[in-house]
Amino acid sequence: MDFLKVSGKTFFITGVANKKSVAYFTAKGLEENGAKLIFSVLNEETKEKCAKLFPNSDIYICDVEDENSIADMASELIKKEVRLSGFVHSIAFANYSEGIKPFHETKVADFLQATNISCLSLVTLTNALKDCFENDASIVTISISNTRATSYGYMGPIKAALDASVDFLAKSLSEFSSIRVNAVCSGPLKTSASAGIPGYINNYIFAEQLTLRKQALKTQETADTALFLLSPRSSGINATGIVVDAGMAVNYFDQNVVNKVADSI
Ligand code: NAD
Repeated sequence: MDFLKVSGKTFFITGVANKKSVAYFTAKGLEENGAKLIFSVLNEETKEKCAKLFPNSDIYICDVEDENSIADMASELIKKEVRLSGFVHSIAFANYSEGIKPFHETKVADFLQATNISCLSLVTLTNALKDCFENDASIVTISISNTRATSYGYMGPIKAALDASVDFLAKSLSEFSSIRVNAVCSGPLKTSASAGIPGYINNYIFAEQLTLRKQALKTQETADTALFLLSPRSSGINATGIVVDAGMAVNYFDQNVVNKVADSI
């Protein structure tokens, strides 16, 4: 049975860097369910990796910092009369080259660059591709489970802006279509993006202890939620973020962690 109803439909996927990427797992899930895929990746190196993982798909290079790069790719897709049933926005970047600084020391240039790449690109790519979308297409971005937790430096406020952009985009697209826009708000995962965050691994280990099941979130689980949101099976869900955190949000006072801290005093 074709439960997801994505078979034969075409999806546009951004953010595949390697086999650990959220976008990779999402694309694999779509492919396994009979969907066709079109990829957009950052550069030639990621294109080569992506081509090995998805040899039967078209792959474009698009650096979302570069307006011309977005426009060129969009005009190619329009020229080919591509019809998209969905778009996966799985892109983020923050310059942590000087480590995570106190938030009040955030550099303007770093904040603006990270906002452009990690948040605004959802809007600019959607706008560039708007003539390619089916009337009932589904757009999914990957946010974080708690934008008020301070562990990612200035990425927290940027993901909060991404969450708000999901709502604004859903509303503005509704003026001419039934395109849905949603986010998967994921807890910590092991990917190359997270490996670049200073001190991440300790936070990841701690977060695992705060899940109700005492087992870290798997990238497959985040991707499976994206898959559901892309499919018509989630047709009633719009302008929403689905939290995927294995219950971490309710477990501030995990008794094992509480006791360990109390015993160490
Ligand atoms: P990843 O490194 O595999 O994916 C990030 C992607 O962003 C890469 O493919 C990279 O090439 C792309 N990218 C960066 N700058 C770009 C640019 N200028 N133009 C085009 N593409 C660019 O890591 P991931 O964890 O799969 O990240 C995907 C999404 O998931 C991100 O939005 C991230 O914030 C989110 N997320 C990750 C975690 C985690 O713990 N890893 C948790 C919650 C949410």
